[in-house]
Amino acid sequence: MNAEIISVGTELLLGQIVNTNAQFLSRELAQIGINVFYHTAVGDNSTRLTQVLANAQKRSNLIIITGGLGPTKDDLTKETVAACFNKNLFRDEKSYEKMSRYFAKISKKMTENNIKQAFVIEGSNVLPNHFGMAPGMAFCYEGCIYMLLPGPPSELMPMFESYGRVFLLDQLENKQYIESRVLRFFGIGESELETKIEDLIDLQTNPTIAPLAVGDGEVTLRLTAKHPSLDQAMEMLDQLEKKIQPRVGEFFFGYNNSSLYEEVFLLLQQKGLTISSAESLTGGAFAKEITNIAGSSAVFNGSIVCYQTEVKRNVLNVPQDVINKHGVVSFECAKYMAENVLEILHTDIGISFTGVAGPSEQEGKRVGTVFVGIAVKDKETKVYPLILSGSRSAIRTRTVKYGYYYLYKYLREK
Ligand code: ATP
Repeated sequence: MNAEIISVGTELLLGQIVNTNAQFLSRELAQIGINVFYHTAVGDNSTRLTQVLANAQKRSNLIIITGGLGPTKDDLTKETVAACFNKNLFRDEKSYEKMSRYFAKISKKMTENNIKQAFVIEGSNVLPNHFGMAPGMAFCYEGCIYMLLPGPPSELMPMFESYGRVFLLDQLENKQYIESRVLRFFGIGESELETKIEDLIDLQTNPTIAPLAVGDGEVTLRLTAKHPSLDQAMEMLDQLEKKIQPRVGEFFFGYNNSSLYEEVFLLLQQKGLTISSAESLTGGAFAKEITNIAGSSAVFNGSIVCYQTEVKRNVLNVPQDVINKHGVVSFECAKYMAENVLEILHTDIGISFTGVAGPSEQEGKRVGTVFVGIAVKDKETKVYPLILSGSRSAIRTRTVKYGYYYLYKYLREK
């Protein structure tokens, strides 16, 4: 079954709203094995909707139309669709009664344009609307399935999940599930990752493997499997992942929409550990990311932003002779910063960031020279030197991400 989603609404064409309905429906249809080949958006205009429908009929055998089922004059979807097929509109008594009860309850008169919402195309299956007035509808005509859904996502989503999906599953002969799993990596380039699994990519048919560089040192692999059984589709993904992980697992940090920040937070929480940060070039960005997560106070005590040398010396107690001998952008300074913030803020782990974000070099060290220190109570402190490229902002963002990545690796192995 090849589907097309037609989204009706001038607001979409004016860029006032994002077409989240099409995104939602595409995802839902993929999960039940229906290919979506086209997304079309059209304004609240009967002539243009008729043209769009005529095109869709030539290339699709499932057409889902969203929006324009409401009470106002510009809501003309069902009237237009009915006219295209010479069908009449009938009052759906269940929807009408529900509407009457609602208006009686709020002591308001039901106007003609409200009643218009209870009308459905003859011969259609009515899809009840539990979160609004206008019902949806679905019918088959000359080998094509048509489904009309309301525009507001809060009405469309539950209607599709409860009724639309079931209607489509009943129509499908060969039900196929399409399951995707995204593997997230950090610290490996897209081309290096591809090279390491090149033979698997070359052989791919089902499941498929799609690499994507998402920026700031992150790369993802989207694995997608198709199977009539959902369990089998999941099993196919498990098998493929088992082949990928031994080759590039050292760079892997999470699935689907997870982030390095969340993964580190979860590991700290699971292991009952606390952390603090001493931040020079990152200016508090490490702290910002962890405090974006609800519940972070259980694992994060605080940060000392030690931008000036004076703060490194007077607040973080980095010895003057270390600064004189090695400079503030150094392995040694990063080590003291991490160890001392752990002591001062009473945490199990201390992380430090010092480096040159640019645009000019510092202490004779080139832009992008960075040291990330990780001190853990009763353990030897580790300092990771990095040479990063890119703009000042990219260097700062990547520095923070590397910090989280090293923490992730440490905590995972611990
Ligand atoms: P209503 O009874 O609210 O008029 P309707 O079925 O006629 O419902 P529209 O009038 O087309 O739907 O849209 C109502 C609202 O739903 C829009 O203002 C917008 O907020 C939201 N909406 C419509 N279409 C989309 C879409 N494709 N993606 C996301 N939101 C949408």
